[in-house]
Amino acid sequence: EQEYYEKKCAKSKAMIGEAVDVIPGGVQHNLAFNHPFPLVFTKAEGAYLYDIDGNQYYDFLQAGGPTVLGSNPPAVRSKVIDLLNDCGPSTGLFHEYEYKLAKKIADHVETVEMFRMLGSGTEACMAAIRVARLATKKKYVLKMGGAYHGWSDQLAYGIRIPGSKWTQAHGVPRHMFKYTQEFFPGDLIDLERKLRFNQLRGGTAAVLIEPVGPESGTRPLDKEFNKGVEALCRKYGALLIFDEVVTAFRIGMAGAQGYFGVSPDLTVFGKVIAGGYPGAGGLGGKRAYMKYLSAGLQSGEKHKKALVGGTMAANPLSCVAGYYMLEELDRTNAVQRAGKIGDVLTAGLKALIAKHKLPFVAFNQGSICHLETVGTLHYAIDWSKPWRIPGVLKATSERKKEMEHMGAAYMAEGIVTLAGSRLYTSAAYTDEMIDDVLVRFD
Ligand code: PMP
Repeated sequence: EQEYYEKKCAKSKAMIGEAVDVIPGGVQHNLAFNHPFPLVFTKAEGAYLYDIDGNQYYDFLQAGGPTVLGSNPPAVRSKVIDLLNDCGPSTGLFHEYEYKLAKKIADHVETVEMFRMLGSGTEACMAAIRVARLATKKKYVLKMGGAYHGWSDQLAYGIRIPGSKWTQAHGVPRHMFKYTQEFFPGDLIDLERKLRFNQLRGGTAAVLIEPVGPESGTRPLDKEFNKGVEALCRKYGALLIFDEVVTAFRIGMAGAQGYFGVSPDLTVFGKVIAGGYPGAGGLGGKRAYMKYLSAGLQSGEKHKKALVGGTMAANPLSCVAGYYMLEELDRTNAVQRAGKIGDVLTAGLKALIAKHKLPFVAFNQGSICHLETVGTLHYAIDWSKPWRIPGVLKATSERKKEMEHMGAAYMAEGIVTLAGSRLYTSAAYTDEMIDDVLVRFD
């Protein structure tokens, strides 16, 4: 693996060597680090990525999730170019594609009566808890241990990010997450205990969950659990917020809520809704709650409003890209195709794990595939143990090293993963490509 990088990635090495002088750590995306040095990518097309030295890779990072159609699909790109020719990327004023995208999302996701586009998933999560507090007049927000809801002060708590240590909000004063609590993943008893306790001290405004499981299914959860959370929210008068930044338009065109048959009050969107382009974030939900996000100085409404916005929020570029991405997903049935590819890939990985008697585990929910290595078994299989136990923390830093090596080893075989532990599939894959990928894994 070391040999591969030294021999085949000389231009990347040289550029990263210079970049570390001006960019902290040399790269700017948390998932771009790679052992022994990060690579520089210059081209992306369909299922493939190409580095600056001209090496070709299978792309299972998928830009972190948004490119369900594969990278840089011409059907979306051509519409973005038309828009740029017409009005440039943004005007700061209303554009027809803001409406068209909102309508399309509302048409697909049953609980979305209204939608507001924001700049990122992080911002949309911030907006969601603000709305929940205004609507319920309660304070606490309960999230699942390990779940990632962006890096805002109030939610950068109890996070597990692939390839990194547990991030416990360094640089955030503790009072910022005074009203943020977590419950053990998959543990409805723990959730109810906290909801009950909170009743005595201001109440729970919202339960915010990643429906497929914390950090997008690393600790997978099912329909029964989601139904259980929904019932508890109704019982205690908390809003149910689904963070579907990863799952919406990836696990199904109706989101994880359609997949599980659960009705959240609010849904956070990101990634796919801007078609792989920047500015991917939005909040959708019932009219009664979304009214707290009404913009416009002239609206004349009497109720309080949550302050949300952003110079680049809902810019025409993000909206047109998102709209045509969803059109294309509808037209080509790409979500289903990517999910089937995910099933084939995961079955192949399972067979390799059995063949080589590896202490790994592979599983998937549609096109979201996990390949957890030995250090992660603890999380993937038995997450009932609280992550605060020092032994577990130790395992985590060992795991980080291990994953860096696994991710780098896969990359040396021409396979780009998300930090060595997750593989997103896209509709750009063919069965023949997956056969080749499995030979390389073998
Ligand atoms: N929620 C989840 C479940 C996510 O996976 C992410 C990003 N990976 C976010 C929120 C934050 O979204 P963004 O990166 O657009 O701020």
